Amino acid sequence: MTDRLDHFIAGDHSPPANGEYLTSTNPATLETLYEFARGSADDVAKAVDSARRTFETREWRRTTPTQRGHLLRRLGDLIGENADELATLESQDNGKLLREMKGQLQGLPEYLYYYGGLADKVQGSQIPTNSPEVINFTQREPLGVVGAITPWNSPLTLTMSKLAPALAAGNTLVIKPSEYTSRTVLRVAELAYEAGFPAGAVNVVTGLGAEAGQSLVDSPQIAKISFTGSTRTGAAIARAVAPRFIGCTLELGGKSPNIVFEDADVSNAAMGVIAGIFAAAGQTCIAGSRVFAHRRIYDELLEKVTERASTIVIGDPMAPETELGPLAFANQLDKVESYVHLGVDEGGRLAYGGRRPDVGLPGYFFEPTVLTDTHNEMRICQEEIFGPVAAIMPFDTEDEVLRLANDTEYGLAAGVWTSNLQRAMRMSQRLEAGTIWTNMYRAMSPMSPRQGFKNSGVGIEHGFESMHEYTRLKSLWINTDEGPLADPFVLGR
Ligand code: NAD
Repeated sequence: MTDRLDHFIAGDHSPPANGEYLTSTNPATLETLYEFARGSADDVAKAVDSARRTFETREWRRTTPTQRGHLLRRLGDLIGENADELATLESQDNGKLLREMKGQLQGLPEYLYYYGGLADKVQGSQIPTNSPEVINFTQREPLGVVGAITPWNSPLTLTMSKLAPALAAGNTLVIKPSEYTSRTVLRVAELAYEAGFPAGAVNVVTGLGAEAGQSLVDSPQIAKISFTGSTRTGAAIARAVAPRFIGCTLELGGKSPNIVFEDADVSNAAMGVIAGIFAAAGQTCIAGSRVFAHRRIYDELLEKVTERASTIVIGDPMAPETELGPLAFANQLDKVESYVHLGVDEGGRLAYGGRRPDVGLPGYFFEPTVLTDTHNEMRICQEEIFGPVAAIMPFDTEDEVLRLANDTEYGLAAGVWTSNLQRAMRMSQRLEAGTIWTNMYRAMSPMSPRQGFKNSGVGIEHGFESMHEYTRLKSLWINTDEGPLADPFVLGR
């Protein structure tokens, strides 16, 4: 019988108010994996209420930062103990390689350890005043209930980027995971309860974006929305919360340039291009989907990339030899394929791939694809495809490639391949992207703050800076003088 998963609210499994369930499908085998609750406004109201009540309890309010740090570390330990199981569940849900998910999940406790360590390091400061009797200092306090909405491509990692700093700062949460990957987020909410967080500190409502997600965004009791997903949904969320002036951290889409100069190690750069666009079947926000190669090494790079693409093992994401799994769901496959057709219609040439391969499984597989004869203004170079499709374009000068690389609505990440240090620094300063890698691609760490520029987002995730996304600052003034107040008609300082 198919497993049936309920919401996780107030430390317990909570069936959907409407009694309805949705199903999750394995994108490699098309087998039904489990049923999960179809969240409605009623479920969201219950979860937000639980998070709000917990936030206001004496028990949670009196939890010291050091104790919250311990709880986070304990949760990190529990996630570490369950990492392989969680990796298998995520791989079944979204089709990403088991070995990639194992790597991600085994590294996930680091998020909890890092923010566990920061829990007691958030502090205000003493501000100078112009009166010796007046003391002014700031203090940081939690916001309240944080609504976290996450996508399917790295379900737990992207959830942890929100959960860990939010709890460290003393907030409580309601999480709405992607409808394609509910299972592991529900499991981690159980583990948080097991770790000792009070019932109601971490709640999960599953379901569709337009229903459960929208209800969470519209909930008047939410103090902040922290969202990772598409730019389109992010813009809709920003519009919805604008009249309430609540905080919003938005981590959105990208169309990142991966730039290879003539002085680069071309073999390494080719591997960086492959990692940037074919790892995770290109289903990452930081995919290096626009490859710019200096004309002098263009042919060499193209040959190396297409040669490696032709040996990529496509198939069952659970098999250790597989390098490219399926796309996550049917619409993804249709979208990626239609973009490839569009690219060809726009004048692009298929240098490799472009088809649905027969891998002996019924799932949503698509070949690693390389398009040439493309121009940066084409739609396939401007719109996020979110699949294993690279457009490779030649350039002649640094100024030209800077202009092309920055000519996009997005600004999430960029890669630069060069052996010239001055050039690396110049490019890093002039590229309009929140993360820039030189002679590497796709590195990320909870310690390293990141921010999407332009339409790639608002606010910071990771690093110490993200603690400030989950606190608000209060300015406290104290007059130590007991004598009569000075002139009441003049602004005090
Ligand atoms: P999506 O925007 O379709 O969905 C993301 C989440 O939002 C899901 O949980 C969904 O149910 C929910 N949602 C959808 N409509 C909603 C609404 N009206 N109100 C509230 N919630 C709603 O994105 P996706 O397809 O799940 O994820 C892929 C996208 O995420 C890509 O664009 C990718 O670039 C982006 N992404 C960004 C980052 C980053 O850090 N910048 C990381 C990973 C993915």
